[in-house]
Amino acid sequence: MPRYDPDCIFCKIAAGEIPATVVYRNDYVMAFRDLNPAAPIHVLIIPLEHIASLSHLSADDEQIASQILLAARTVAEKTGVLDSGYRLVFNNGPDALQSVGHIHAHLIGGRTMAWPPFAGHEIRHG
Ligand code: AMP
Ligand code: ZN
Repeated sequence: MPRYDPDCIFCKIAAGEIPATVVYRNDYVMAFRDLNPAAPIHVLIIPLEHIASLSHLSADDEQIASQILLAARTVAEKTGVLDSGYRLVFNNGPDALQSVGHIHAHLIGGRTMAWPPFAGHEIRHG
């Protein structure tokens, strides 16, 4: 049985119950534009099945985990940042300000970034 949480906004996007601007989709993952972009390119990559966070990944999820990374590469190409550069961020848990409890990789690009991410200012988002 595919995992589905009826209270999860990203499960609803994966099921087509909530609209999203889809960039890529296959049998395991999908990628769509972030509603509140932090950069010119800001795409979220999610597993179609509900997994609450990276901390909830198990060895059985090996294929899903690898598909997220491969999708990131595809999304980078589709959005034109493969050569200019991009960042892949998983916010996991409270300290990282994870606000949606369904694994998502933020693919961010299209501008020069800073490092480390907590330098200078704090942003609450989500
Ligand atoms: P995080 O804070 O790392 O959990 O990231 C959640 C992200 O989901 C934020 O960047 C939000 O802007 C984004 N987001 C929330 N709801 C939606 C939605 N319906 N469509 C697209 N992006 C969303
Ligand atoms: Zn979910």
